[in-house]
Amino acid sequence: MKLYNYSELSTAEIGQLVQRNIDPANEIRAIVEEVIDNVQQHGDNALLDYAQKFDKVTLTKLYLDKPELEELAKTITAEQKLALETAYNNIYKFHETQLKTEDRVETMPGVTCWREIRPIEKVGLYIPGGSAVLPSTFLMLGIPARLAGCHEIVVCSPPQKSGKVNAFIAYVALLLGIDKIYLVGGSQAIAAMAYGTESITKVDKIFGPGNQFVTKAKTIIQSTTTTAIDMPAGPSEVLVIADETANPAYIAADLLAQAEHGIDSQSVLVCTSTDIANATLAEIAKQLPVLPRAEIAQLALDNSYIIVTDNLNNAMQFSNKYAPEHLILATENWSQISDKIINAGSVFLGNLTPESAGDYASGTNHTLPTSSYARAYSGVSVDSFVKKITFQHITREGLQNIGHTVEVLAEMEGLHAHRNAVSIRKS
Ligand code: NAD
Repeated sequence: MKLYNYSELSTAEIGQLVQRNIDPANEIRAIVEEVIDNVQQHGDNALLDYAQKFDKVTLTKLYLDKPELEELAKTITAEQKLALETAYNNIYKFHETQLKTEDRVETMPGVTCWREIRPIEKVGLYIPGGSAVLPSTFLMLGIPARLAGCHEIVVCSPPQKSGKVNAFIAYVALLLGIDKIYLVGGSQAIAAMAYGTESITKVDKIFGPGNQFVTKAKTIIQSTTTTAIDMPAGPSEVLVIADETANPAYIAADLLAQAEHGIDSQSVLVCTSTDIANATLAEIAKQLPVLPRAEIAQLALDNSYIIVTDNLNNAMQFSNKYAPEHLILATENWSQISDKIINAGSVFLGNLTPESAGDYASGTNHTLPTSSYARAYSGVSVDSFVKKITFQHITREGLQNIGHTVEVLAEMEGLHAHRNAVSIRKS
């Protein structure tokens, strides 16, 4: 990991450091556009071809049905089942509270306005399965989709070498009451759910993280089709803010947890103490070699860095510019700076709150905006799966109260039919 001193960095250098996952030569875009075109033109056949080309699997059919999922799920142990069920219960509990009914507001006597929640009818969930299979992502997307009451839930996940999904994904499908999983990965899955194929329904909104191909496909289809997306949730990243009260072994473990996701993941440490920075590097050197995914983590760390700042306020200033997907405040003084957070996807407070808890089981959602999109996007929640429709009702008294105002405003804009729609009711 490279080491920088914050006070020595120019604005331009800071601007460079906070940039990630850009595709300057449009190489990813070119590949993804070709995939999307192919899926549009050749439907299921293109999906079977891409399973062969990218996933190195020959499929005879594109999905697993309920009996096949039940059969697969049989192989998981009681301990694994319990862990998935505990995570399910906590995520359910946390997300359930998001289904709030809003108050009706009388803006003027006789004029009542309110919002009601309606589910998005058809949603598509992408469950990553390239370098690691993520049943946790299935829980994170499936639970809010079920809570929202979405009518049709299409699920795509890359086929594994067995030509199936793994047992954990199958078990989560059963927990969620989902009867079918399409064996489709990457940008072809996003194209299939956005355009529809012979066997995959076109959906209204696509959810889920993924690699650069998946994320690029989502950003393309949101402007070329009527299918919406949750957010650009690409390669994972963490930013740890630490001071002298932090534990370097814990920081190293958190940085490595992020780095093992993929070679394009990024782990950043912003630290007020050079001693802690050096001790963290020493801990990484100790913890990294014994990890099964050490090679991937090492490549991600090559693309990661440490910044030493004079104080926690400057550390937070940098963090807000970076807008991390995950922000860990590795300090006993977290309550002094947490209100200065402006941009972050999900925040982990104190030395005993590892990001892994939120990745899996504490209850919060792990599908979060990356690549600085946390400046404007929130993570996935039940809200992401619903529309909030406004309603209003006006009585005779209400029409008398508001009518003249609307007539004058319509007149100001030269829209006489608008004015008449009120006048005709008043007379
Ligand atoms: P993935 O499922 O996103 O991608 C695998 C698919 O990519 C393959 O099935 C294949 O179709 C396609 N692909 C592979 N090589 C290709 C190529 N050269 N050209 C075109 N398509 C190709 O799985 P992954 O690769 O393991 O990536 C998962 C990503 O999700 C990681 O980067 C991880 O950091 C990220 N993630 C993000 C969040 C979040 O909330 N932001 C959460 C979890 C995971």
